[in-house]
Amino acid sequence: MESKRLPSHFQVSEGTDFENLVNNVKDYALFNGAASRSREHFSSDSIQFLPFTLLPSPFPKKEFDKAVQIQPLLNKLIHKVAHNHEFLKEVLQNTIEVDFFTGKLFEIYETVFNEGFAQPMSLGILRSDVMLESTCRENIDDVYCCWKQVEINAIASGFGWLGPASKVIHRFVLERLQYFDEINKLPENRALEGLCGGLVEAWKLYNNPKAIILIVVEDVVYNICDQKFHEFEIYRQNPKIVCQRKTFTELIECGELKDKKYFVNGSEVAVVYYRSGYAPEQYPTDKEWNVRLTIERSAALKCPSIHYHLAGTKKVQQALALEKNLKKFLEKPDEIQLVSDIFTGLYSLDLDDFGDQAAKLALQQPHNFVLKPQREGGGNNVYGAQIAEVLTKIGRTKERTAYILMNRIQPPLIRNYIVRPGKQGKLEAEDVICELGIFGVIIGTKDQIIYNKQAGHMLRTKGHKVDEGGVALGAGSLDSPFLY
Ligand code: ADP
Ligand code: MG
Ligand code: MG
Repeated sequence: MESKRLPSHFQVSEGTDFENLVNNVKDYALFNGAASRSREHFSSDSIQFLPFTLLPSPFPKKEFDKAVQIQPLLNKLIHKVAHNHEFLKEVLQNTIEVDFFTGKLFEIYETVFNEGFAQPMSLGILRSDVMLESTCRENIDDVYCCWKQVEINAIASGFGWLGPASKVIHRFVLERLQYFDEINKLPENRALEGLCGGLVEAWKLYNNPKAIILIVVEDVVYNICDQKFHEFEIYRQNPKIVCQRKTFTELIECGELKDKKYFVNGSEVAVVYYRSGYAPEQYPTDKEWNVRLTIERSAALKCPSIHYHLAGTKKVQQALALEKNLKKFLEKPDEIQLVSDIFTGLYSLDLDDFGDQAAKLALQQPHNFVLKPQREGGGNNVYGAQIAEVLTKIGRTKERTAYILMNRIQPPLIRNYIVRPGKQGKLEAEDVICELGIFGVIIGTKDQIIYNKQAGHMLRTKGHKVDEGGVALGAGSLDSPFLY
């Protein structure tokens, strides 16, 4: 079914001024750090602006507010899930048998769980990603009816800087186009401050002013601006804090555990902030896996700790879409209702009747579904005709349980321009779709939540025919919600 179109709020005439405007905004984006390293021409000395939409995209205020308001409840839910051993074990038991990566994470989890966690507190920096649904009611007057959650990220939830940076870009564009009265419809975005506030709070809770914040990074970092702005914001909030960036491979040599404390080159670590560790290739050998285990064994606060990481898996999201499971974590009926409503259809592919039915449905109507393995970071899901291919190839074997199936959300279409680096020629308006990410920060122990906040947002936009929307991977673009 063709998605419906949201109204456009801005008139832009495509003359010489338009070209000037676009060139001006490219520079503005770059000089304000809405940028990354180039994948094609990587150099550790240079950055290029990230793709961005020329205009902010309309997003219904009511739905935006709802997404913001529900975030502390989602934070609490993930926190409780992370601390429920029986639930994690039960939900993931089939998956870990066939999925090597989740299996390794679970092995680390069981090891530290059985030893007893050296640090009872965890820091969660979460990002719940949602899309407006345009077709879930038959006869709507509005072009959308509500949003549905795409996923919730519990590890390396990026764009704490690039979210606010998008507002910097779009504020500039609206000013240049003389839309001064519209600027206040770009909501305040304090994601960077909020997320780093959580990291600084966790550092304080460790209670050793000499201890550092360790940022675990990939071997090659493309998304450098987003990461570095976090580091600089930590310094802004407390100049006495020292941050060190290390890869898992570097930590084999320079990290060590002594009396349950983790040290990097002799400095005690208070907080470990993972911007890596969510994908199998980030652990090239057993030694890198051992680094993860060693850190989990330490008293440092981990963002996220291993149980939080597992609570953010797609398999867990699918299980939470079942009301009977939600009831294990939320007591109040209105809270259960609120959270139930955010899920679109999510189906297990276990080797039982439910799994068989879901697989059958997906084979019949592959275009209505997304097939998801337990992976993060974009580029791993299966769409459309390929779903049928993959499911046919796997057949009714245990391998199937490594995946979940999800209804494909159909967001309303919006007309916008996507400005991309290195692309010459006339810029054409295109039909695009948006994905809103809402950040949350939570700190607590199994029995007590100490800190629980919503912290800003980010909006990503892609061509309406594009399956995956990762900005870092080149498919998506930075955008800002224009509330109406
Ligand atoms: P990852 O953890 O790799 O980011 P996601 O579940 O977020 O995995 O999927 C990646 C992208 O695929 C999303 O950003 C979104 O653009 C698209 N996508 C995922 N699930 C759905 C869905 N149910 N409906 C529509 N698009 C989806
Ligand atoms: Mg995602
Ligand atoms: Mg993800």
